[in-house]
Amino acid sequence: MVDWYISVSFGELTLKGKNRHTFEKRAISKILAAISDYKIEEYYQEQGKLYIKANVEEFDEMIDEIKKVFGIVYISPCIKCEKTLESMQNGVLELMRTKIVEGKLQTFKVDVHRVDKRFEIKSPELNPMLGGIILKNYSKYFKVDIKNPDMFVYVDIKDNCYVYTDRIKGWGGLPIGSSGRGLLLLSGGIDSPVAAFLMAKRGVKVDCLHFHSYPFTSQRGYEKVKKLASEISYYTGNITFYSINLLPVYKAISKNCKERMMTIISRRFMMRMAERIANENKIDALITGESLGQVASQTIQGVSVINEVVDLPILRPLIASDKTEIIEIARQIGTYDTSILPFEDCCSVFTPKRPVTKPRLYDVKSEEEKLDIEALVQECIDNMEVIKINQ
Ligand code: ATP
Ligand code: MG
Repeated sequence: MVDWYISVSFGELTLKGKNRHTFEKRAISKILAAISDYKIEEYYQEQGKLYIKANVEEFDEMIDEIKKVFGIVYISPCIKCEKTLESMQNGVLELMRTKIVEGKLQTFKVDVHRVDKRFEIKSPELNPMLGGIILKNYSKYFKVDIKNPDMFVYVDIKDNCYVYTDRIKGWGGLPIGSSGRGLLLLSGGIDSPVAAFLMAKRGVKVDCLHFHSYPFTSQRGYEKVKKLASEISYYTGNITFYSINLLPVYKAISKNCKERMMTIISRRFMMRMAERIANENKIDALITGESLGQVASQTIQGVSVINEVVDLPILRPLIASDKTEIIEIARQIGTYDTSILPFEDCCSVFTPKRPVTKPRLYDVKSEEEKLDIEALVQECIDNMEVIKINQ
């Protein structure tokens, strides 16, 4: 009988000096929440890593849940042994028994980490001792390859001793909430959900704001964006989802301003409203899925004219990404298929034939003078809907 544990390694967190403790505590509470449906016999931290004892039959499912938590570099099913050679050998044998593939000769290399330097046998001696026992018992299935093994047999000697082979990659990053809060401007496209994921990965707690222009945009379009938010919540945790009908703004612009200015002016309205919501809800920054040069409004001049209207920072994690790179992440995180469902964005309904690509602040402002900005912002916000999207 051996004891199986899931071990969780926090990567970058270990670099964070004084903050490390807070980060780890936060990550651990997220992990425990993620596996709250499973029976956990015990959990504790040893030399940075988290160890969770549970039913080994449920490990695969549990690891799938744990993987979603940011701040984790890798996860390993491992066997806990006593700090004696005999116990380690037993542990290693039991571990390798689970790795046998009938009819296949796999290669391995033992990799001992003697964190507890008081342990009397040093790594260079221990490696062949543990490798030897594997060869003695399972020569039909395993042989040593020091240079390019199929698997490493890791042996960590700490207060206890742990043996494992698999290192299942986590997303890395920082646990949600450790870098403040952001309000994502969520459209129905491919980019903004990816932007949410990337900022969440850096520890930002994300809420979403969507602009529609019902009845020019449909209920189905709205449902699609809500679905995207719920897919994002898989990573970010619960989301507050704000939605605003921007139709009054579009109507006012198309009635009063030059058609070419529609996109840039409506974007500035979006930002004004986003900032107001952020300020009222203690949110520290706005987030968009803009990528330089992707569409007419996403030029450096466009970006600076948009920035001018708000004081909060606007985070644009995709600014330097190519569309193909963005699509790759969208596929990985599972938002792509929803993003490409057909729907009419409020912006596409009101997109001018030839939008200005290099707007000048002076021109934009003089167009905006024809509008009652404050009244329009207030009217839209007064009709805002707010719902909770639970993970
Ligand atoms: P996406 O794929 O995210 O829709 P896009 O390539 O279509 O982006 P734009 O439509 O120019 O680019 O939008 C740029 C950014 O502005 C979006 O990533 C999003 O953050 C924000 N945005 C655009 N339209 C909306 C909307 N209807 N509601 C909320 N935010 C929006
Ligand atoms: Mg869009």
